[in-house]
Amino acid sequence: MLFPGIDVRVERVSGSSEVLVVEAVSTARPGRCPDCRKQARHTQSSYQRDLDERPLGSHRVIVRLRVRRYFCDRKSCSRKTFVEQVPGLSERHRRSSTGLTGWLRTIAIELGGRPAARLCRRLRLAAGRTRLLRLLTAPTVPNRAPRVLGVDEFAFRKGCTYGTVLVDVEADRVVDVLPDRTSETFAAWLTEHPGAEIICPGPGHRLHQGGQGSRPSCPGSR
Ligand SMILES: [Zn+2]
Repeated sequence: MLFPGIDVRVERVSGSSEVLVVEAVSTARPGRCPDCRKQARHTQSSYQRDLDERPLGSHRVIVRLRVRRYFCDRKSCSRKTFVEQVPGLSERHRRSSTGLTGWLRTIAIELGGRPAARLCRRLRLAAGRTRLLRLLTAPTVPNRAPRVLGVDEFAFRKGCTYGTVLVDVEADRVVDVLPDRTSETFAAWLTEHPGAEIICPGPGHRLHQGGQGSRPSCPGSR
């Protein structure tokens, strides 16, 4: 009920008249290195992190989530270890759950900084003005793909280097940008962000097997 479709197992719920603490452990498959996207195989350690979750009745909810830290096995990658994220629940560098972050972002969009902070205080959502505004300036990539995912290519500069833009077709907004247009990069993204039911290629879309994702010749020089 608390985490529908999310890869966690609830181990214990405790708390006081004001706060519920939900201890949960990630049951997700090993993640990919956020830098080089190589699939992790070796666990380095595990630790608990606290996430603010949406309130339940009059209770503030804290998810005490046990996550694993993995080694990145790719020798050329500068990142030695990374912490797994649980899709739909945790995001890198965020102390609120994905669900609560979504609420806070919506409130900030509708009300702006100070009124949003006042409303959050009234609703007992842990968020100050600075934190709310930061959600507006730096939207994060969702952990799950949108139901209808649009894929198209775009030129980084003057049509010579191509990337892939991923769009939530139903919400009409960009969800992520990939650094090239290879099918490998796109496949890795889909593995990391499950949930797409329909994938719509855009008019200029052409995913390439291997290579650097650049056109062999610049269309401007044709
Ligand atoms: Zn790596």
